[in-house]
Amino acid sequence: ARKKLVAGNWKMNGLAASAPEFVRIVGAYQGAMKSGVDLMVFPPFTLLTSFATATRGAGVGVGAQDCHAKASGAHTGDVSAEMIADAGGQAVIVGHSERRADHGETDADVCAKAEAARRAGLVAVVCVGETREQREAGDARKVVGGQLAGSLPDNADADHVVVAYEPVWAIGTGLTPTVDEVAEMHGFIRGELSNRFGPDGAAIRVLYGGSVKPDNAKELLAAADVDGALVGGASLKADDFLAIAKAA
Ligand code: 13P
Repeated sequence: ARKKLVAGNWKMNGLAASAPEFVRIVGAYQGAMKSGVDLMVFPPFTLLTSFATATRGAGVGVGAQDCHAKASGAHTGDVSAEMIADAGGQAVIVGHSERRADHGETDADVCAKAEAARRAGLVAVVCVGETREQREAGDARKVVGGQLAGSLPDNADADHVVVAYEPVWAIGTGLTPTVDEVAEMHGFIRGELSNRFGPDGAAIRVLYGGSVKPDNAKELLAAADVDGALVGGASLKADDFLAIAKAA
């Protein structure tokens, strides 16, 4: 069985003063969560080292929100997967819809970043999801299927890859798909992973993301083929994030 994973994506939020909130997350996880659910937090690069230090031995993973495909070189402002690993990270989000939209990242870019993550010993959390226009046009499966085909490396497996289904229209909006819609898309994704990767694909965790809150977490996380959540806004507050994790 796939172990549930609840991951917090802090996006472009968090200053040094946020460290105590993070320490509260770690402390409460150790006290209350036991080992039934994996917890990860993805802070901005500026906090990666301090969060990695704070989680040492605590069972809470930390990761970054993006990486460059290359290991090093003349790429001003970019950060490599190797640097993330060196800073104490265990994972990296790649292909978040905000990166695809803000920085024009293509499926091929995302795939190269996922390969870089593996090269550096990081887990890649590969994000996919359709826009509202695409869903209304009946194209959600086609879009997500295409993103999976293009963004996942051929050697993807459960030790190196997590998929996050994040419908763009549900991110930061308070809107979510119905439980049936979530289960339907996750079932589709599960089928695509199994078809392409066989038993390795069947073991890859598929998270739901988009307006997950303490009050909707239980039903969303109970939907068929949902292996956890990628939480944005609600991950910034320890109490909300832990309430979501407890619902998993
Ligand atoms: P919200 O939980 O704020 O909707 O963000 C979801 C998300 O994009 C996580 O990566």
